[in-house]
Amino acid sequence: MSLTPDSPLTDLRGVGPKRSAALAEAGFRSVRDLLSHLPWRYEDRSTILPAAEATPGVSATFQGRLTNLSRVRLRRRGMSLVRGVLEDESGSLPVLWFNRPYLVNQVDGDTDYLLHGKVRARNRKKGTQKGTQGDDGGPPELLNPSCEPASDALHSGRVVPVYPGSGDLGPALLRRLLDQVLERIDPAGLSDPLPPELLERHGLPELGESLAALHAPDDGADVAALNAFQSPAHRRLIYGELLEMQMAMVRLRRLQVGHRQQFAYTVDDRVRDVARTLLPFPLTAAQRRCLRQIVDDLRRPHPMLRLLQGDVGSGKTIVAALALVVALESGLQGAFMAPTELLAEQHYARLRELLGERYPLGLLTASNPDADAVRWGLARGEVGLVVGTHALIHEGVEFARLGLAVIDEQHRFGVAQRRVLQEKGGRPDLLVMTATPIPRSLALSAYGDLEVSVLDELPPGRQPVTTAVLPRQRTGAVYRRLAEELRRSGGRAYVVCPVIEASEALDAASVEEVAERVRKAVAPLPCAVLHGRLDAMERERVVADFAAGRVRVLVSTTVIEVGVDVPEATVMIIESGERFGLAQLHQLRGRVGRGTEESRCVVLHGRLSEEGRQRLGVFEATTDGFEIAEADLEIRGPGDLLGTRQSGLARLRVADLVRDREWVERAREDAREWEGRLDGLDELRERVEEIVRRRLEVAS
Ligand code: ADP
Ligand code: MG
Repeated sequence: MSLTPDSPLTDLRGVGPKRSAALAEAGFRSVRDLLSHLPWRYEDRSTILPAAEATPGVSATFQGRLTNLSRVRLRRRGMSLVRGVLEDESGSLPVLWFNRPYLVNQVDGDTDYLLHGKVRARNRKKGTQKGTQGDDGGPPELLNPSCEPASDALHSGRVVPVYPGSGDLGPALLRRLLDQVLERIDPAGLSDPLPPELLERHGLPELGESLAALHAPDDGADVAALNAFQSPAHRRLIYGELLEMQMAMVRLRRLQVGHRQQFAYTVDDRVRDVARTLLPFPLTAAQRRCLRQIVDDLRRPHPMLRLLQGDVGSGKTIVAALALVVALESGLQGAFMAPTELLAEQHYARLRELLGERYPLGLLTASNPDADAVRWGLARGEVGLVVGTHALIHEGVEFARLGLAVIDEQHRFGVAQRRVLQEKGGRPDLLVMTATPIPRSLALSAYGDLEVSVLDELPPGRQPVTTAVLPRQRTGAVYRRLAEELRRSGGRAYVVCPVIEASEALDAASVEEVAERVRKAVAPLPCAVLHGRLDAMERERVVADFAAGRVRVLVSTTVIEVGVDVPEATVMIIESGERFGLAQLHQLRGRVGRGTEESRCVVLHGRLSEEGRQRLGVFEATTDGFEIAEADLEIRGPGDLLGTRQSGLARLRVADLVRDREWVERAREDAREWEGRLDGLDELRERVEEIVRRRLEVAS
């Protein structure tokens, strides 16, 4: 009976109800599931070693007759040993098997066998079979090898696929099952879901051929390429996976921007003049370019869906503010959403300074006592621009005519929160901003439904921040230098402590402790403390005092991690730096170096793990956000970088966004070209739709 990809596994020889249950438990239900379970590495067992050359410590394949098989009685019950001798032309090699008593009856003296296993030095002392590594210089012995007739070998004598095992399902069983599948299914006859044109474009083999090459590599297969996931067959699977994902992204974008908006923006000389008079400084070329891309989007009758990406301090806020001016001048409302109250308060203060004379502004956060009035004003259209936290997307917030919504620090929000804003009545335009520079391959995958504008230029006069990474034993010296510097220069400094405890109260206590030490060190200069336990009023006062210079050192938890903007601050001291991720460290360092004065960052750390050492090494070596993000991606992997759950980033089975980044680009281009041409490509279309569905589920 021949198999199809949909055949249940009970159609396989050797799979009864019990084994099929174990397979189902591990996620294998059909032949297709088995076929898509790829080896995670390959071993070249095609070279056959003469028995006389066996040396302890190596794993090798031997071929010959088996003689003198006998069971050894053991006192321990449930254990059995079989001893035997392998003989080939070069000589002989003793073999020892555990728990395979049946070999005694099965092995046939006239057959050539292939054995693969590890050679060890046999113990001389009798009855000491405990250690498997025992090496007292005794004669070599082959330990517990695979054993199969040479004419029909699966586990040796070739390039052998090694499968990730699962529970009771060892690699050998999977190898046997897949061998049977490949024998009974004609892989070349499997239809490939991808259009042949695309396979040809990239010189890739078809799916069936690829699966055969991956599960049963040819004799001459390039083992290094297989192990690096770079064989042509791997590439076919990687490309296919990335193409599906990118097609899903292109489709998601289409679903979101497919609506027709009922409102329009006015962009004429009058509006341009207004913007010019509000502008406190000339824009950088990058800011002008990004603003133009945004305004072009606004003028189209479809919702904008754009990511404004720029390193910390690159000046995203003013770009967003000018886009909001266009909305306000067009008689539409704007919303600006920030991830923390502190940040919302700060943006509110800045925007009020910039735009407050001209437009009615409101602040909407949980702790703003006027929130009700702001909600009321929004619904009646009396508040033009609202700044707030996620309180903005809570139920009960209605807009009279929302035109443009801006989300600051997008990575702090999930896809779900973004969609609440997008789905407001008139389908507003959406600009999301992030200072977490993410490598392009990752951006295409996580934010692939967004168009991207990049601020790749810092405002003029910035000086790179110098960074020192020091063990915490140096804290005293670091504080002394800080005190000297502050007394001399009039500058300002941050000292940041990690969030260590689960409770805000305990964090506050640990911040107070650090603050005590800092106060002593810099006395009589004024210090203040900032943490999540302070209420909005106190927080606002502390930040204002620091901005005005009435406070010279701000000791804080990571509440200041994003966004806080005090250009006069020139020193950032990070306590227990090993507790921070690279992206976080980069954000923290971004709080200084915002003016024209030279700035520095000091990381104090306790004991370092290997990863911690790597992380701080990268941080010390570069201030380039993109380099940092690439390194972070390599150290931590894409899921961790964005928070897999929040980003809705699909889990990849074969592809790797770091290793396969060029393929992400290719897949993206092809997806744009082909997403609308999936008629007749039913299998591909269904897979794409499935990814879209999953992502929309995450978002709701
Ligand atoms: P981020 O991109 O990190 O959000 P901000 O928008 O907070 O950066 O800008 C950082 C600082 O740079 C702010 O103090 C802002 O006023 C200033 N800034 C932004 N653009 C310019 C510019 N073109 N020229 C001078 N200063 C600028
Ligand atoms: Mg910002």
